[in-house]
Amino acid sequence: MRSFDGDRLVLASHNKGKLSEIAELLAPYGIEVVSAGDLGFEEPEETEDTFAGNARIKAHFAARASGLPALSDDSGIMVDALDGAPGVYTADWAETPAGRDFPMAMKKVWDLLEEKSAPEPRTARFCCTLCLAWPDGHDEIFDGTVEGRLVWPPRGENGFGFDPIFLPEGETETFGEMDQARKQAMSHRADAFRQLVRGPFKDLSK
Ligand code: IMP
Repeated sequence: MRSFDGDRLVLASHNKGKLSEIAELLAPYGIEVVSAGDLGFEEPEETEDTFAGNARIKAHFAARASGLPALSDDSGIMVDALDGAPGVYTADWAETPAGRDFPMAMKKVWDLLEEKSAPEPRTARFCCTLCLAWPDGHDEIFDGTVEGRLVWPPRGENGFGFDPIFLPEGETETFGEMDQARKQAMSHRADAFRQLVRGPFKDLSK
């Protein structure tokens, strides 16, 4: 596995929730982080049907455009009673002509579960794939998950996306109710990040 030995990294995401979580996870490593949005890059189209495929598209696009290593995140929620939907299409389910509407997307998921009379617990998992890509075309992939179940109505104002209806296994607070540090200790993103830290970042001092 290739080591990361630079001191600058492009975060290949335009999602504010993800950007702040990844920047926080990277903070102890003394790497200067610039976001693809700050560099004026557009968002490439996510045309693959896997988290890894779309993570690769985003990271390689930003690495080529910037000449720097780039880290991307592709993530989503997989609901068992919906055969894994919305999965890689999680953000698409929130799309409206006026922008992304997550309260609407969460209701869509819950209404589908009600229509199917899906039994409780309505189990689901958040999945995250990180891709670290270099300008020469090399990349490394890291997958993370967190298991839980969906609850209704939505609870809490923290986090982003589907956080208010996701209750992690063994917890009493949804990701929307938890403080950020607690979510960061158990999330799918943190799980994937731990592998990045054991791999390409292992020589960096924390
Ligand atoms: P994409 O990876 O940009 O295609 O979008 C992934 C979507 O999955 C986000 O827009 C969120 O709705 C959802 N998602 C991913 N990670 C999280 C999380 O940590 N909390 C809540 N929602 C998430």
